[in-house]
Amino acid sequence: MPRGFGKGAMLWHGRFRKHGYRLTLPRQAILDVLSRTTKHLSAEEIYIEVHRIYPSIGLSTVYRTLELLVQVSLIFKFDFGDGKARYELIRSLEREYHYHHHLICTQCNRVIDYTEFIKDEMELFKKTEKNLSKKYGFKINRHIVQFYGVCDKCIRR
Ligand SMILES: [Zn+2]
Ligand SMILES: [Zn+2]
Repeated sequence: MPRGFGKGAMLWHGRFRKHGYRLTLPRQAILDVLSRTTKHLSAEEIYIEVHRIYPSIGLSTVYRTLELLVQVSLIFKFDFGDGKARYELIRSLEREYHYHHHLICTQCNRVIDYTEFIKDEMELFKKTEKNLSKKYGFKINRHIVQFYGVCDKCIRR
């Protein structure tokens, strides 16, 4: 394992092995970039960061790797409505991080991560998921909550 990677590396390693993949350098480099930011980065932004440290990793590798990381449930892929896919590390895998959801401003594309009221939300969703599972015989693995609207700065403008 290359030096200088975060403590998430062991966890990522296990996740890949479970799916029959290896934790390659591009995979680890992308996960490392995403673990160091709370922003929701696009593939191009991730590429710029990764490329700075590993010039041999190209944009197509980044695209391919991101798809794989989504597939093995290490990162989330979001569409915030600005025409670009955005990626975020699934931090609930690591104990010290908590769950968060999104408030998305449709005017300035600002994405606010919120962690307040999550407990209330979770209880409501647990109940809803249970009912949906029962009604449709559908096994739910996860859900995404995103509220779209206008942020305080845009309202004041
Ligand atoms: Zn705004
Ligand atoms: Zn987020």
